[in-house]
Parts: sequence; structure tokens; C-alpha cells
Amino acid sequence: MYLTQFGWDEQFSGLFKELGRDDLQPARVLLESARIYTLVGETGEIQAGISGRFRHQVTERKDFPVVGDWVAFEPDADADQAVIHEVLPRKSAFLRKEAGKRTQAQVIAANVDTVFLVSGLDGDFNPGRVERYLMMAWESGAKPVVVLNKADLCDDIDEAVDIVEAVAPGVPILPVSAVSGAGIERVSEHIRATETVAFLGSSGVGKSSLVNLILGTDQQRVRDVREGDSRGRHTTTHSQLFVIPGGGVVMDTPGLRELQVWSDGEGLAQAFNDIEELSANCRFRDCEHDREPGCAIRQALDDGTLAARRWQSYEKLKSEINYLAGRQDEQAKLAEKKRKKELALHIKQVKNRPRT
Ligand code: GDP
Ligand code: ZN
Repeated sequence: MYLTQFGWDEQFSGLFKELGRDDLQPARVLLESARIYTLVGETGEIQAGISGRFRHQVTERKDFPVVGDWVAFEPDADADQAVIHEVLPRKSAFLRKEAGKRTQAQVIAANVDTVFLVSGLDGDFNPGRVERYLMMAWESGAKPVVVLNKADLCDDIDEAVDIVEAVAPGVPILPVSAVSGAGIERVSEHIRATETVAFLGSSGVGKSSLVNLILGTDQQRVRDVREGDSRGRHTTTHSQLFVIPGGGVVMDTPGLRELQVWSDGEGLAQAFNDIEELSANCRFRDCEHDREPGCAIRQALDDGTLAARRWQSYEKLKSEINYLAGRQDEQAKLAEKKRKKELALHIKQVKNRPRT
């Protein structure tokens, strides 16, 4: 089947069948711009919008289709645009809180199996950023791999790997150079023919260069030149899916300037499982790791087995998660208040209706 090379598998096929809609066809979102979607279906690429009904039903931003999603669309031979009716449930979703005041999740990447978290080894390497990305990756349901790019600019790669190992326990760490190609085969080992991978990280760390290297063509560069500004320079502004010649699908994503947490704490426990394990040894189950006797965390901080910096990162991310939870509660309460008010109004209207 043609769609298999785009990651279509039995799981999605089953989900599609469950819709029970013979009039619709499955497709994957390759590209999105202002809610116009470029899909790939059995018959190739199609442009699509979303149905009015879908738009009406969707209340949260994260429920709209995004790049990587599998959707069910209605082909229309006469119109030049197909219509998306459903988004299939995602097997993974990398979320962040959207920028600005609203407490809403934004999906950065959907249905990714392995996420490469890219940092550059050219200077200001930031362990805190790696921890934050890792937490969000664990939260997403995708398998994280840390990629340390620009190894050609680094004098002591082993030292850099050691530093990252301390903040990424149990996660593969791959030093590479997108310029020389050194280490790229270790990245390829993590890309299975049936799977989708994504490169995430700040702008300028070399995500596009890595994607180009993996694709082994100038496919993307060609698009870049067309979309780039007059100086021919280009920065990725949209996520986009590409089929890898050797098998598998890769997503290029725009650089994320800020990554505000969207988490229920699950990802934190996984990203900091060293701390979770330590705290299991505290004398009190509900130890707050403050001044309690027999606190394993305090002990580890004192004897240096737990770095103060790492503990601070953990505490910071935890307080961000708590803050988010508070905002979500507040929003839920407001929504409930609004619902009750509307209900009361409705009842009043019904009561006041003249009897016939
Ligand atoms: P993106 O914003 O993350 O997609 O980063 P780009 O792929 O656009 O790369 C940003 C800049 O870093 C470009 O000038 C690249 O040529 C350069 N670059 C990317 N990878 C490497 C590398 O491994 N070594 C060196 N020295 N430069 C690199
Ligand atoms: Zn404790």
C-alpha cells in the first residue's frame, strides 16, 4: 500500500475502520498553512480544508489537525479542495503551552515515534534546556534521543557527553556533525522504516542540516530557495514531513524559542527518574525534602551524589507544572460557572414560555 511509506500501519488502519465512514479516505498531513492542509492519500497529494461541522465541534486548539496527523477526508472530484472530517487519535503528541496568556496546549509534532532533541556543541550548551525538552518528550509518548550536533566545533566531545549523561539518564546521546557527516549513521540506526522521527530544538542548532543529510538529497533545499527571502537564507517556519529514501518519515520543525510546559507530571517523573528513585529512600513517604529527618534527597545533595543544579531544575519544572495545573483548574471552574449560568437562563426561558 502506498501509504505505508508514510507510516500508515495496522493501528491507524484499525482506528480508521472504527470510524465506519466508507465515504471518507485516510491521509497524512504533510504541511499546514493557515488551516489549509497538504495531505498525502492513496492517490497522492491533495489540498484540504476542514469541515464546518468539525470546526464547530472542536473547542481546543490541540484538536485541530497538525503535521503528522492521520485524518479522514472526503474527496471531491469537482472542487479543488478536499474536506477533512476527522482526526484519528494520535499515538504521540509533543505539546507545549501556547505562547501568550491563554492556557491552551499547542501540538508541535503528532504521531512521532522517536524524537531527536538537538543541541549545538558550539558554545552555550544549556543542561536546563535539555532537561526541559526531555521532560516534554517523555510526556509526548515518543522515545527521546539526544543529538549533540556541531561536534566538529567541540574540543572535548567526551566531556560534553558526560555532562549530558548526568541530565539525561538512560537516554541515548549521539554526538554528530551535520557538516562532516560524522556520527550520522548512529542517528540513522534510530530510524526504523515504518516509523516517524522528528528533530526538535532551538533555532540554529542544525535541525534542517540534519534532515537534509538524512534525506540525502537537496529536496528540502529546493523548497527552501523558493520560500526563502531575497538573500536566499531560509529558516524553517513550518513543520513538514519528508519520506526518507531508505525508509521512514522525518519531520523538520521550526526552532522553538520558548518551551512552556504542558504536563501532568508524568514526563517529569521519567526525565528525573534518578530523583524519583532517591526519594523512595526518604524515611517519610510524604517527605517534602525540606528539613525532615532521614531525607535521602538532602543526604544526596550533601554528599554530592545529586547535583544542586539538577535538583533546582527539577523543582523549577515541578512548580511550573503546579502553576499550569492551577490555571487549568481555574479555567475549568470558569467554564463550569458559565455552563450553570446558561443552564439557569435556559430554565428561566422555558418557565416563562407562554403555555399553549
Ligand atoms: P536549524 O535552524 O536548527 O534548522 O539549523 P540549520 O540547519 O539551519 O543550521 C544553522 C547553521 O549551523 C547553518 O549555518 C549550518 O550550516 C550550521 N551547521 C549545522 N550543522 C552544523 C555542524 O554540524 N557543524 C557546523 N560547524 N555547522 C553546522
Ligand atoms: Zn526527602
